[in-house]
Amino acid sequence: MAAESKTTGAGQSETMGFQAEVGRLLDIVANALYSEREIFLRELISNAADACDKLRYLAIETPELAAGDNDYAITVTADKVARTITIADNGVGMNRDDLVDNLGTIARSGTSAFVDRLTGDKKKDVSLIGQFGVGFYSAFMVADEVSVTARRAGEEEAWHWTSDGKSQFTIEPAEKATRGTRITLHLKEDADEFLERMRLERIIKTYSDHIPFPIRLAIAGDEKDEAESAEETPAQVNEGSALWTRPKSEIDDAQYSAFYKHVSHGFDEPWMTLHFRAEGVIEYTGLVFVPTERPFDLFNPERMSKVKLYVKRVFITEECDELLPSWLRFLRGVIDSEDLPLNISREMLQNNPVVAKIRSGLVKRVLGELAKKAEKEPETYTKFWENFGLVLKEGLYESAADRESLFPLTRFASTTADGLTSLDDYIARMKDGQKAIYYIAGDDADKLRKSPQIEGFAKKGVEVLLMTDPVDEFWIPACGEYKGHAFKSVTRAGADLSDIKADDAPDAEKDEDKAEESKDGAVEGLAIALKLKLGETVKEVRASDRLTNSAVCLVADESGMDIHLERMLRQHKQLDQASPRILELNPDHPLIKALASKAGADGTGDIGEAAELLYDQALIVEGEQPSDPSAFARRLSEVMAKAIG
Ligand code: ADP
Ligand code: MG
Repeated sequence: MAAESKTTGAGQSETMGFQAEVGRLLDIVANALYSEREIFLRELISNAADACDKLRYLAIETPELAAGDNDYAITVTADKVARTITIADNGVGMNRDDLVDNLGTIARSGTSAFVDRLTGDKKKDVSLIGQFGVGFYSAFMVADEVSVTARRAGEEEAWHWTSDGKSQFTIEPAEKATRGTRITLHLKEDADEFLERMRLERIIKTYSDHIPFPIRLAIAGDEKDEAESAEETPAQVNEGSALWTRPKSEIDDAQYSAFYKHVSHGFDEPWMTLHFRAEGVIEYTGLVFVPTERPFDLFNPERMSKVKLYVKRVFITEECDELLPSWLRFLRGVIDSEDLPLNISREMLQNNPVVAKIRSGLVKRVLGELAKKAEKEPETYTKFWENFGLVLKEGLYESAADRESLFPLTRFASTTADGLTSLDDYIARMKDGQKAIYYIAGDDADKLRKSPQIEGFAKKGVEVLLMTDPVDEFWIPACGEYKGHAFKSVTRAGADLSDIKADDAPDAEKDEDKAEESKDGAVEGLAIALKLKLGETVKEVRASDRLTNSAVCLVADESGMDIHLERMLRQHKQLDQASPRILELNPDHPLIKALASKAGADGTGDIGEAAELLYDQALIVEGEQPSDPSAFARRLSEVMAKAIG
């Protein structure tokens, strides 16, 4: 919490500064665009619903907490005279610490992601609100003063929190007869529209219809309206039943979308919506979504599954990691089980056979739907794959049982295909005599396309897949092959091209092979000379048929680790030293030819500092540093001086 806190004398009233990030956030929020302002109500209702969900869950084990009032409801009251809107709920409420922690700092990760993205350019930043949402703080889009009176369920004391949303807030003891939270917004001069019944009704219907608690709307200070709603409970505006319990045919896209935004805290639209009922040995309803945008915290190591677990319409937890494998962690939504006991604890969820069954059913359904999408809408599927493919690929090594369904969903960039290709399409394009699925791994597809190691493959028209996700280094060795075709890295020595027939003139190719044999002999002396010079730095020096344009390249031993994996491990300090690689020479390259004739058949001729220069060159092409950059620069300058002079 912010350091500067001072007691202002008057009883226990205390004024504290907002956390610095909240201050920055509020500054942006105050400038929110008109069209976006109405979402404040959705955010506050969403919080009220969460609070009701929380208490309903806690009350299963401790019924006293609900103190006999199990009629959870949210009331929105607009007062035209006072120019206020009040959102009240009888949920779990907040005590003093809760108020200070939740409404003074940035507790929720979505909001902190918003703050991280702030550019300092107000216009740009304001439009970011649309992407992230800012939860409670969105109240300050329409209000210049917000006060919160809250009493935590099971506690006697109530507290009053108030702020003008500038730099600080005040907190003091208050009176409140019942548990829950009441938030009052003192509207800004230009926010009168939010006092109109029609406007409020529309906002609630649009964004909060699916909230499974009644949302009631009352208008005070308006004679006509007051006469209408005379005294009794104000009218309920929303449908008020859990959306997933309603028949599909009665739900439209807009309703699914609003619900998605509520459960995901996301601002995009669902890319795929899966609403189903599983009936049989176990019964459950699922309403799960694949987001259109990649959630910002997809790679947060603590990130848990974000699908909420309900039991018979009662919210249980949103942190049930057993419900979904981590490689489906991009899914949002709810699962509502009929078979689990209501009073199930988090511990009991582990190793629970019902949960395990739901999980496997869910995996099957989701993968099945993805396969359908991939087939029917390949273009939109590509968008999905670009967002979540790298997460799905984790499943290839984590979950051997699902490999068969996962492989057909994978897509890869390749040296020959436009866009992304599936493995089956790759196999269909394999050349005569080609057995393996060739790939090259690295960080950047464009750089990989220029790698010397793939030159020979390109010449023969052999397609090479470009693996640019770190996770590729894990599933490839774990899986080894697909449909009997081994995955082979072209940066490893064994990738042998001689068995594969080129596209054109197979006979000429044979002649060329013969010619190559003699070429191997021609560079043998040079290979000896280079190995002598480089010593233990390289494992071996030899001629290669994988190069066409480059003079040299480095490859790893067949049994060794892939070059890219080794580099990754070194970057993460999991490996101290690179293991020596094989330096391959292009016998057709003029430089190699010239050096070979200098070196002579026995390799005793003088080749100057060619060994060091060739090796450093190969390192640079790999994206690595020469072993001694200043020596490299000196050697290069000398060679250039000679060439010019
Ligand atoms: P989020 O809802 O994503 O957690 P918010 O900014 O909307 O973020 O709310 C911050 C926190 O304030 C909530 O997580 C919750 O702990 C608390 N809070 C907000 N409104 C209420 C409410 N009506 N009842 C109880 N707690 C609330
Ligand atoms: Mg919220």
